[in-house]
Amino acid sequence: MTTHDERARGRCLCGAVTYGVRGELRPVVNCHCARCRRFTGHHMAATAAAVADIEVVDADGDLTWFAVPGAAYGFCRACGSSLFWRSEEAPEQWSVCAGTLEPPTHLSTVEAWWVSEASDYAERPDLPERATE
Ligand SMILES: [Zn+2]
Ligand SMILES: [Zn+2]
Repeated sequence: MTTHDERARGRCLCGAVTYGVRGELRPVVNCHCARCRRFTGHHMAATAAAVADIEVVDADGDLTWFAVPGAAYGFCRACGSSLFWRSEEAPEQWSVCAGTLEPPTHLSTVEAWWVSEASDYAERPDLPERATE
């Protein structure tokens, strides 16, 4: 459970990487860009928080970053769970894969990004669309 100063807790599938978030969490956005599609296997449903508010507990160093131009994806190398995304343009913030948070998150999904890069099997999202990230 969360301690009184934590807004949320989350973890990967195997539990090797856990994290707590103290501050505000952004509403969830679904990013359908080709990179997020491949990283997550569908689309990235991500909230975001200030790096200073995120405490990662990772005793064996399993949190691994895969760099792409201008950004990096964070995952657990033990179980493969998608966990985080960070951008060189906004290094003070990490995106957090919303499905790794313990429910209830008290968050809602507000936008779909890069829908033009969604695969052809994907249903058109019933969300406002934005072609940027
Ligand atoms: Zn794991
Ligand atoms: Zn994306």
